[in-house]
Amino acid sequence: MKAFSALLAALCLAATAGAQGATLLRPARVWTAGEPVHTGWEVLVEGERIAAVGPAGTITVPADAAVVDLPGETLIPGLMDLHSHLLLHPYNEALWDDQVLKEPLAYRTLRAGQQARATLMAGFTTLRDLGTEGAGDADVSIKRAIDEGMIPGPRLYVATRAIVAVGAYGPAVRSYRSDLDLPQGAQEASGVDGVVRAVREQAARGADWIKLYADYRVGPGGAAEPTFTFEELKAAVEAAHGLGRPVAVHTATAEGMRRAVLAGVDSIEHGYGGTPEVFRMMAARGTAYLPTLTAPAASAEYFQHYSPGASPPTTGMAAAEAAFRLALNSGVTIGLGSDVGVFTHGTNWRELEWMVKDGMTPVQALTAATATDAKILGRSGDLGRVRVGYLADLVAMPGDPGQMIEVAEHVDFVMKGGVVWRRP
Ligand SMILES: [Zn+2]
Repeated sequence: MKAFSALLAALCLAATAGAQGATLLRPARVWTAGEPVHTGWEVLVEGERIAAVGPAGTITVPADAAVVDLPGETLIPGLMDLHSHLLLHPYNEALWDDQVLKEPLAYRTLRAGQQARATLMAGFTTLRDLGTEGAGDADVSIKRAIDEGMIPGPRLYVATRAIVAVGAYGPAVRSYRSDLDLPQGAQEASGVDGVVRAVREQAARGADWIKLYADYRVGPGGAAEPTFTFEELKAAVEAAHGLGRPVAVHTATAEGMRRAVLAGVDSIEHGYGGTPEVFRMMAARGTAYLPTLTAPAASAEYFQHYSPGASPPTTGMAAAEAAFRLALNSGVTIGLGSDVGVFTHGTNWRELEWMVKDGMTPVQALTAATATDAKILGRSGDLGRVRVGYLADLVAMPGDPGQMIEVAEHVDFVMKGGVVWRRP
């Protein structure tokens, strides 16, 4: 086992020769995502990858290695959030309609850059950003600027504009003069040919994932109802998968979820109206679930006078909790996806806390945010764990988040791809 690790380490060293030198991280404990916490372990990083992990004194450390002492801290894999909106900011700062209709694209993009930085500094080293909400393909350029080292930020998986049924999304036509041609928060499509075309256009413009809305507030009085037909969803999924793009689907109704799951989508977002039948179907088919528990709580604070700790949960919050518990009991693959942007970027840890409040253990929530999210992204082989050969996305915080999840609020060491962005 040891010889194998050494071989892997040597291979990684060769692969990254010319990158940064070696760094030895000496925390109080290491949580690798998959094993009990290890006290007194150290991690050696060479270039952008993890070269060795093990008990102090058992690792061969290059003489010129930099040493980072992290006393009292727990080192864990970089956290991930698979449902973000870097191009939004909280709705108590500016209503969603006002952001889409009044904020210039250049302003939104610059703000998103700042928000990417805040996210990385909070220990979230990977995001799947699910739609620019009216900001075109700005996410593709933000990702590029991060990858080229122009601005600090997490690894990004982007979806560009997202795809909605004609007339389904916002700014809602019913809320304005009906003769106004309003810019929309996503790309509208209709019919099998229409959705296939939209998928192809978005993939061509740089979408890593295709995001579809299977339902929205299209019912009488604004009630959530399914929008795309099963045939439309199925055609979109086939087109996306044919282009090597997985599909994420916003859906809050049981029927929207059912259609999406049967159409073969890869992840269900929100799922607040999920029934035991739908979650059983997801578990059987391996459809991932991103519960976005923080979003209804944040909206309740902004618009329903909800006060954390002082008010009972709103109907929306209770529905989100009930769906989460059903999914958990049904054995669904649950990742961390928070819908951050609805609330402040860099406070993604709020989702970890909601997952624990609503029934997960701290270790389950941390696993969702690391190894499980990596699996959903198809990156089980090099992200989401502290393991030799994996990319060195590592964060640390004072205390043990596996015992008390709240310590994840205080990440004070951040490394992404072997580069240290923050240290105590
Ligand atoms: Zn969202």
